[in-house]
Amino acid sequence: EAQTRDRAVLGFTEEVRSRATRRVELERDLRHALENDGFELYLQPKFHAATHRLTGAEALLRWRHPQRGMVSPAEFIPVLEETGLIVEAGAWVRRHALKVCQRWRELGSFGLRLAVNVSPRELRQLNFITECEQLLAPFGGDHDLDIEITESMLMDDIAHSIMVLQALRDLGCRVAIDDFGTGYSSLNYLSRLPADALKIDQSFVALLALSPDTLSLVTNIIGLAHSLGLKVVAEGVEEEEQAKLLRLLRCDEMQGYFFGRPVPQAQFEETWLH
Ligand code: C2E
Ligand code: CA
Ligand code: CA
Ligand code: CA
Repeated sequence: EAQTRDRAVLGFTEEVRSRATRRVELERDLRHALENDGFELYLQPKFHAATHRLTGAEALLRWRHPQRGMVSPAEFIPVLEETGLIVEAGAWVRRHALKVCQRWRELGSFGLRLAVNVSPRELRQLNFITECEQLLAPFGGDHDLDIEITESMLMDDIAHSIMVLQALRDLGCRVAIDDFGTGYSSLNYLSRLPADALKIDQSFVALLALSPDTLSLVTNIIGLAHSLGLKVVAEGVEEEEQAKLLRLLRCDEMQGYFFGRPVPQAQFEETWLH
């Protein structure tokens, strides 16, 4: 019995050790990727709900690992956050995304917006706004870069969030509250946030056509958002039925596999800009 237990403990130790090793390797590889252009931005189109006209895209970070192939952001974003590497990665994303939308203007596609995701950890960084200022101030507001920030952390320090979001808007970015409905924001806080749009989380979109409760919840979220002067974007739209319902509910923009998957920049331009 004692032997079995010892083996179990040993197994556990091995497990912890190998997990820690994987972590160290992942961190080392991420650092290497940052220094050697190992990241890529995939772009997913967004559409005006009423007309299906292209309005822009969301930039989604991708990491092509030399051995493991494409690694999902769900796996590496938390590591970037825990190691602080997200600061550098986020700055790379914004610089790169800005170049993408400048190129779109050169191609003659005016008015298309490109949104990047900003991690909660970055928002708390003291020099976050300084870095954004350095990047965007030269444009005097005349650029197409937008920001998406998940709802869940905004309420941790509401005064700070208000300050940062306002600074971003002053720099000409539109701000969207991402994953709306998954956090715990009170309506009172929501009304105080300087934001332009609210993104309904894909978990609600997935249930829209199946659950009457979800349908009425989404109806209410859209009504609430509009009453606060916010646009509503639905993400994770995979089926025509969902798109139809969202349009009926007066959702403003839609994004999802039904319309288009995230793809590399060249493919995006070939498919959507002509
Ligand atoms: P998110 O911001 O909520 O992005 C939407 C996610 O849903 C993306 O996953 C996208 O590929 C996926 N998606 C889009 N349409 C559909 C659909 O119709 N069905 C389904 N099932 N999924 C859909 P992805 O690219 O794996 O990114 C996951 C998360 O990683 C993002 O969630 C975002 O929170 C984070 N992330 C991605 N890029 C960045 C970045 O540059 N910076 C930061 N801080 N976070 C990022
Ligand atoms: Ca997002
Ligand atoms: Ca989202
Ligand atoms: Ca999400």
